Amino acid sequence: MKAYSASQFLKFELLARGAVISPAARKVLATLTRDGRISPADYASTSGVILRLDSTEWVNVPVKENNPNFVEETPYTLDHAANGFFVHGNELEAQAEFWPLPLYHGTTGANGRPLNNYVVTHGDRVRLSPTIGCAMECTFCNIPYDDTYAGVKPVEAMIVALRTALTDPIQPARHILISGGTPGPPHVRQMQDVYYRVLSEFAPIGVDIMMAPIAGLLDVPALDELGVNELSINLELWDDRLAATVMRHKHRQSREYYLDFLERAAGVLGGQRVRSMLMVGIEPLESTLQAVEAIAVRGCVPVLSPFRPDPATPMSSAPPPTAEALRVAFEQARVIAGSHGVTLGPACDPCTHNTLTFASGTRRSNEPRLERGAL
Ligand code: SF4
Repeated sequence: MKAYSASQFLKFELLARGAVISPAARKVLATLTRDGRISPADYASTSGVILRLDSTEWVNVPVKENNPNFVEETPYTLDHAANGFFVHGNELEAQAEFWPLPLYHGTTGANGRPLNNYVVTHGDRVRLSPTIGCAMECTFCNIPYDDTYAGVKPVEAMIVALRTALTDPIQPARHILISGGTPGPPHVRQMQDVYYRVLSEFAPIGVDIMMAPIAGLLDVPALDELGVNELSINLELWDDRLAATVMRHKHRQSREYYLDFLERAAGVLGGQRVRSMLMVGIEPLESTLQAVEAIAVRGCVPVLSPFRPDPATPMSSAPPPTAEALRVAFEQARVIAGSHGVTLGPACDPCTHNTLTFASGTRRSNEPRLERGAL
């Protein structure tokens, strides 16, 4: 505990065990939200309430409403008193600020479709999901189980949705991540059009692309030319046997193919602009650390994402990693990355909410809106 501040220590605990919301906190949250909705809840790792602890550490806290599969027995509570929100449990305590949802969440666009079909904001970043479902299947990810794969969405509707998210009156997004769903071979061209349109319109504010490097899709020099900010090419797992069952399509592309792609992308963009996400808690720690080493030795940025079992997936009853396992993974990965002159990502403070990374604490003039709930 000594190596960590209270909010840092609590971050691991909350990621692993979640929190219940006290009646007092729930009452104040109801006044701060339009309809009692407190979480974007669009993806396995974003199913919780976004808090900032002690004005520093961002954390996506699983709650019973969206993760009844493991938040039943938590000792932690999001509570409220005269000074505002706070989290307590296990003799730990930290002041908390609540991240309210943007106004556009839950509304429909001019085409009559929910804007959240296209975009969802977390912290200061809007995530654009260009495909309906995913042409691949990873059993830790809810996307292929929420929607059957049906190609790429109309690009104009996505551009309109992005503009709405970037100008939201409550929570305007400050940068963009194009993510969520891999296109099938017949739709590769359409996906490239999405990258071209989004980068042409919005590149100056920072557009990241997270994608499986399927054949012919990612032309890194062309994306660089268009102004892409960062690429995220997610290795997810290292263990070959596990990968073959948990993420069979990605596994077919092979680990070596991903590593070669990372290396080539780093050659074009520089390693600091190429990151790779790893799921922590599905495979043995040694395997995760081998992956950290393989990413960092190529000068790229490893990002550790704690496995959070999603109720919609075949892995819904798998146990999430313990807080202690998360701490050990973070500490050892940080040392390995550091030995290659690399730091764990992501670098953006609000975007650390669902990863094993601490915030830099750097304050900006355009911080996301947060509610202390003080009376
Ligand atoms: S490829 Fe990505 S979006 Fe598709 S199922 Fe796997 S993790 Fe989810």
